[in-house]
Amino acid sequence: MLKRLLAIGILLSCILFSPVGAGFLLAAAGEPSPARNVIVMIVDGCSSEQYTFARWFKGAPLTFDPYRIGAVATYIADSVIADSAPAASAFATGVRTSDKHISVGPHEKTLSTIKPPPEAERYRPFATVLEGAKLLGKSTGIVATSRVSHATPAAYVAHVPGRDMEDDIMEQAVHQGLDVVLGGGKRHLLPPEMKGRRKDAENLAADLTRWGYRMPETREALMAIREGRVFGMFADNHMDPEIDRRQAHPHQPTLAEMTAKAIELLSKNPNGFFLMVEGSQVDWACHANDPAYMVHDLLAYDEAVGVALAFARRDGKTLVLALSDHNTGGFSIGNSASNAIYPQLGVEDLLNPVRRMKSSASFIWNRLGADRTPQRLKAAVQEGWGLAITDEEATEILALAATLKDGAAAAIGKVLSPRHTYIGWTTLGHCGGDVPLHAFGPGRPAGGVIEATEIARICARAMGLDLDSLNRRLFVDAVEAFGPERVRVDRNAPQGPVVQIDYAGKQVELPANKNFLRWGQTTHALEGVVVWAPNTGKAYLPLQAVRVIEGKKEPLPEIRLAKAGRKAS
Ligand SMILES: [Zn+2]
Repeated sequence: MLKRLLAIGILLSCILFSPVGAGFLLAAAGEPSPARNVIVMIVDGCSSEQYTFARWFKGAPLTFDPYRIGAVATYIADSVIADSAPAASAFATGVRTSDKHISVGPHEKTLSTIKPPPEAERYRPFATVLEGAKLLGKSTGIVATSRVSHATPAAYVAHVPGRDMEDDIMEQAVHQGLDVVLGGGKRHLLPPEMKGRRKDAENLAADLTRWGYRMPETREALMAIREGRVFGMFADNHMDPEIDRRQAHPHQPTLAEMTAKAIELLSKNPNGFFLMVEGSQVDWACHANDPAYMVHDLLAYDEAVGVALAFARRDGKTLVLALSDHNTGGFSIGNSASNAIYPQLGVEDLLNPVRRMKSSASFIWNRLGADRTPQRLKAAVQEGWGLAITDEEATEILALAATLKDGAAAAIGKVLSPRHTYIGWTTLGHCGGDVPLHAFGPGRPAGGVIEATEIARICARAMGLDLDSLNRRLFVDAVEAFGPERVRVDRNAPQGPVVQIDYAGKQVELPANKNFLRWGQTTHALEGVVVWAPNTGKAYLPLQAVRVIEGKKEPLPEIRLAKAGRKAS
């Protein structure tokens, strides 16, 4: 009860201190009708002007244009500018959290307008709508063009305080029992001797195979699959930018192909499904001030949303939300070169320079290899972007690139885009403005400017899911359940931390990031993952684990709403 009051307290304080509280209440007032399926389509790092540009470039409306209903306020617990980890955490859990956090509560330092969270909420895992969907008997899936352990997909399937903890994220993703996972990031499934990166030397791919997952690595292998659980890894690292995919890795499926296959497989479940799809790389394109990379990835996302909408129209019981997590790059149609020439600025003037670009700036940069001379760069830019640049421009790009290190390719966009296009950029980073929200199907909100956290509640209400009950069921503080004297955490175990509980002569072990407990020869599968919070030293277990250890047979709390918008009594 105390926890519930605390949760309600946080929610109220968010409304009270929020600059857009009225929009939140407006959305909450809409009476949703339950949906069987929910599809959340996220385009990372995008906002209104990118959509407008993509529409010009496509020469037709975007597939989701008719369904723009409002906007999402993107700020996070400790900043007016969001990053993907806390933004997607808000979408997934309904809790506004701190920079870098993946579906765990915020730390104590918050914006002046937001009350610091009570201690019990800090770094505590918060259950996601995907975890809830699974417990409702629905099938679940995530699709991304980044590593699937990257921030946005991670927020739906994992609980860690740092988005860089991708070994832990991948381990939780594997132990969530998802039905469909498609994207990049194979290196976080494998130990170093198998060309992987896992520091704990575990081979999660072997586990997945043993559990019956199919693991396609090409479009052809993916397309041949007609049933069963799938963990498709199409790249060791991220998948390719759409603009480079055909020339660099033509065997990789498109985002639309992955979305279609995920829906085909997940929709076999009569209880329905929850699917999150991310077009991951508009963000990186905008970080690099690279308009061609941006528009090709955005149109690949547009096509994927079209696939989801076509299914939803046929099905009639599917809610589709399409939105982004924040803007990146401060992209604008128009820059200082266009200020005095509005009447002369035609569609072709805007589009043609970008149409001539046939690869991403990072593809151009990587082709230079160690040969970073102005001559070589000029030739590569001519080939990749169809631009004859001057010696001075080439020298300027190389000098800027030397200061950017990892993001060296951004020097190409930052120097050339303002001079050779009518596109403006304000930053190589993120921006804090609202982002458009598109929604189709049963359970869609009334509209207005809504809080990022409301996205989770919209999904939960549409599925008839009570997030508070779900949190009580999936994440119990082990010390609160058993007392400090019975709980220890072995932090030096070779495969990661292990929660140890001494109870009535039983020595129970629960490995963090996994979904089982064991004592002696007994192993019990759990309905959720065990989470160890390194910042607080606390361990969180599914309530089911507590019941098994105590030998109690009481039923677990109901997570279904009794009626749309009402809690079960
Ligand atoms: Zn970003």
